[in-house]
Amino acid sequence: MLSQNIRQAMKGSSVIRAMFMEGKELAEKIGEENVFDFSLGNPATPAPAKVNESIKKAVDELDSMELHGYMSNSGYPEVRQAVADNLNKRFGTDFDFHNIVMTVGAAGGLNIILKTFLDPGDEVIAFAPYFGEYRGYAANFGGKIVEVAPNLENFQPDLVDFEAKINEKTKAVIINTPNNPTGVIYSDETMQALAAILEKKEKELGKEIYLISDEPYRELVYDGEKVRFLTGFYHNTIACYSFSKSLSLPGERIGYVVVPNEVTDSDDVLAGIEISNRTLGFVNAPSLMQKAVAECLDEKTDVAYYDKNRELLYSELTKLGFTCIKPQGAFYLWVKSPVADEAEFVQAAKKHHILFVKGSAFACPGYVRMAYCVSYEKIQNSLPAFAKLAADFGLN
Ligand code: PLP
Repeated sequence: MLSQNIRQAMKGSSVIRAMFMEGKELAEKIGEENVFDFSLGNPATPAPAKVNESIKKAVDELDSMELHGYMSNSGYPEVRQAVADNLNKRFGTDFDFHNIVMTVGAAGGLNIILKTFLDPGDEVIAFAPYFGEYRGYAANFGGKIVEVAPNLENFQPDLVDFEAKINEKTKAVIINTPNNPTGVIYSDETMQALAAILEKKEKELGKEIYLISDEPYRELVYDGEKVRFLTGFYHNTIACYSFSKSLSLPGERIGYVVVPNEVTDSDDVLAGIEISNRTLGFVNAPSLMQKAVAECLDEKTDVAYYDKNRELLYSELTKLGFTCIKPQGAFYLWVKSPVADEAEFVQAAKKHHILFVKGSAFACPGYVRMAYCVSYEKIQNSLPAFAKLAADFGLN
């Protein structure tokens, strides 16, 4: 008999993954070129050349123990120091290796953070729309995601609802900016106001409330937006980073967590996170990838590639009569469904072999998410199908 927890998880199993699998099956039937799959955030840009060069160099030059052996559960000290130096250079911070834990992607990072903080019944606040996997991650440790209602005007967090949702059970708050699924970047004003609420509530409730900043899209910003690292606003912030999107390495499972010294009892938190990495069975982040990314911290993905896609998809869909939020970052277009039940819109799109994900998967019904981390050609080829879809709903 399966556990109650996993049976529950299976019921709400990832809609995004299901769509992705559906896309693969459809491609086998009618040919990949005829499927317009905007379901999964799987980057189409190749990893920068230096990534493969660094992997080759590590394989050629390091001895077997150094390349494939166990190391500290937090990762190689010199890799963590390289990450700290790079953050210090770019963001004026003052970290050293002990503030950094190498992780199995952001998913691994979020899980070890939540394991470290959550007792059964604890609440974790997330701002809708949010990455639906957070629900499963919190449930792994008996925690519960409490949703802040979406702010449909501009998709900045609704801070009034946020304040109302904080109570003695609140252990952590997750933010994700640039945001998946909206592409919105939370403004400095939003972050300052959010931090002020957290400080006030920590005092009122006499307890720590941790802000977990999930930052896999940190460098993916457009229109000269500045790249922001969010530990500067609030003392109890823990950042969770991933190279999945920034270096196009999602299958390699590599990222890191940053615990600044300003976090209350930061050494205990770091020790807890290290133990969580071990006891959850990650043990340590993949050794070869640690070595490779340490050489590539100044490498950049081709943001211009995504920007071109963004402009094309946004302008063409808007012309067709769809209402879209213009993304400031990440690689998702957030589109208002022309009918109240967006599942109907998703079904209609499938008839034209267009796949995207319903907003309810992100706790925001009435919208859909299109991942435009695909080829430019794919978007161009999809436009006649989108025109038919617009016609189905009497747009334009
Ligand atoms: N957080 C957000 C907001 C994401 O969009 C994703 C992946 O799409 C993740 C975390 C997980 O990323 P990783 O591949 O690093 O585990």
